[in-house]
Formats: sequence, C-alpha cells, structure tokens
Amino acid sequence: EKFSEEAKERKDLYNKLIELKGNIRVFCRCRPLNAEEIAEGASTAIDFESAKDGELIVRGHVSSKKVFRFDSVFSPEEDQEKVFEKTAPFATSVLDGFNVCIFAYGQTGTGKTFTMEGIEGARGVNYRTLEELFRIIGEREGMFQYEVTVSVLEVYNEQIRDLLQTGATTKRLEVRQVAEGVHHVPGLVEARVANLNEAWEVLQTGSKARSVGSTNANEHSSRSHCIHCVMVKGENLMHGECTKSKLWLIDLAGSERVTKTDAQGERLKEAQNINKSLSALGDVISALATKTPHIPFRNSKLTHLLQDSLSGDSKTLMFVQISPNENDVGETLCSLNFASRVRGIELGQARKQV
Ligand code: ADP
Repeated sequence: EKFSEEAKERKDLYNKLIELKGNIRVFCRCRPLNAEEIAEGASTAIDFESAKDGELIVRGHVSSKKVFRFDSVFSPEEDQEKVFEKTAPFATSVLDGFNVCIFAYGQTGTGKTFTMEGIEGARGVNYRTLEELFRIIGEREGMFQYEVTVSVLEVYNEQIRDLLQTGATTKRLEVRQVAEGVHHVPGLVEARVANLNEAWEVLQTGSKARSVGSTNANEHSSRSHCIHCVMVKGENLMHGECTKSKLWLIDLAGSERVTKTDAQGERLKEAQNINKSLSALGDVISALATKTPHIPFRNSKLTHLLQDSLSGDSKTLMFVQISPNENDVGETLCSLNFASRVRGIELGQARKQV
C-alpha cells in the first residue's frame, strides 16, 4: 500500500496514540488575554517561556510555581489547525470501531466553545473531526461501508433535552441500558447524514435550538452541557465484520465554583445541578483511578450518558481550558488539578465495539 507523505504522517501519529499506555489523553489550552484585560494591564499567571514540551507552569505568589504535565499544551498563539493536528487520530479511532469521547472542561470564558465549536473563520474540533471522518470514509470507499447518524442534546438542570426535536412538546428523556455495555436514550432523534455538509447542518440546527426559551443565552450556555453524538456503523466489505461506535463531542458547563451568596432560588438550583453533573464526573474519574469496583455512573445525567465511553473500551480526550489572567489563578489551579487527576486514569484495554 502506498501512502502519501501526509497520510503516512497521520498514520504515524495514530500509531503513536494507540501505543501510549492508557486511553485518556489530556490537552491543556490557554486562551489569549482579551482586549479588556490588556487595557486593564492584567498580568499573566502562565509561564510559557520556561516550560518544556507538555509542561504548563503556573507562576505563584512570591517565587513559588506549580508545574503540570499534560499530553499536549497549547499556548495562546497556537491556532485551531495546530490543535486539530493532535486531535485527528481520534477520528480514525471512531471509524476503526472505538467509542471516543472528546470534551472541553474549564471555567466559563476560557475557550471551551472556541475549541469545540470554533468561530467564523476559525472552525473548531467539532467541524474538523466530522471533516476528517468523512475524508477517511471517502478514502476507504470500496473496502468499508459506513452509516453515520447524529444527535444533538443538552443536559440542563439534570434534564436531557433533545435539540433536534421539533415542536413545542418536550419529551422527558432518560438513559437506558439496552445491552451489556450499551446505553441509549430512547426517543432521541438520530438524523442520518450522508456527507460533511449534511452532518454540519444538523449540528448547527441543534446548536441554534440550545438557548431557545432561555432569558439569558450566555448564562444558559455556561450552565448547560452541550452534547453532540455521532454514531457510526461500519462494515468491512472484505470479510463482513461489522462495527458500531459512538463519538461524543461535548462542550461542558462552566466549572467555576458558585458560592451561595452569588446565587439564590432558581439560580442556586441550577448551580447545584451543574455542579452535580461535574462533581459526578469527578467522582466517576476518582473511582476509575482507584479501580473501585462500583463506579457511580448513575449519579448524574452526564455520567450516565457517557458511561459506555468512560468504561474501559473507549478513548477519551479532555481539553482543559484555562485563562492566562492572574486574577483567575484560583479557578485555573482547580481546573488543572482536576485535569491531572483525569490524566492519571487508565480505562483499561481498549476494545473494538463489534
Ligand atoms: P467558554 O466556552 O469557555 O465560556 P468561549 O469559547 O466563549 O469560552 O471563549 C471566550 C472568548 O474568548 C470568546 O470571545 C472566544 O472567541 C475567545 N477565545 C477563547 N479561546 C481563544 C483562542 N485560543 N484564541 C482566540 N480567542 C479565543
């Protein structure tokens, strides 16, 4: 088989990825200081100059500093292409039959949506991953046949909402186990898509429906988990082997701690619910790390949904998003500590979903 130079590079990167021990990767990405912060003369708490590859250094008070290690660290200068270069192998994994989960974690305003969704002229991981999926599907034509469906949902106040469902009535959706290691949300709209444009259009439709009915769109998006699910059925036309896999693309709610004095009534309830899903994610991760026999997946909607993708036969990529601003250093350290815990986990031997 002949590979072009580019395809060979991609294959090398893919091989490197699957060779690595464990199957949770953590990439750290730092946003640039924004115009307002620059105008205020904000200082940055992150030292990119003295950091070695994969290191992130947070300057502390006086002379102390804290060093973190991740699978990749992206400074504010590194663009969407650079980030996707390292993310692309996960798309190949989905087509090879693995469940994949890519999520962005961090304080509101640190670039979770920028990384996942992207902005006009700087597309994010969601689009690029789909593009890569359909590119490989094209490359494998004649040898493999794939069927792709997509769903868009959000978890808000511990309720699952189907963003592709039209009409005013909102069905109550729950996660159900349909077979050993297979969880499903009955009734969720699954749109069959034939190509990149169709897939992207469906995801956009879903994203637009996200804040409909909310009084404050920004607040809503920082408090809900936005979830895209791409389901792939593949058939190897040579020997008939079939695979079924899921790709989750998730823009999580903001991880900032909400103090009781900041929120009351409905807002406090919301804050507690967000924390419930995120803290449940933390608990699941701790349980996985310590190899506890009982993993508390059912404690929140988010962990219940992601159960198949967090339990041993899948690949997970977490983007921990941070602010460079010295004023945010408390939240930054919380996010980095959480991410370090995540990185210490091995899900077990990755196995194809046949
Ligand atoms: P979050 O989703 O975490 O709340 P956003 O993605 O909305 O954060 O990012 C906050 C702002 O910072 C947005 O205006 C976004 O465009 C900008 N931003 C975030 N990350 C980057 C980056 N790496 N480069 C340029 N701008 C960024």
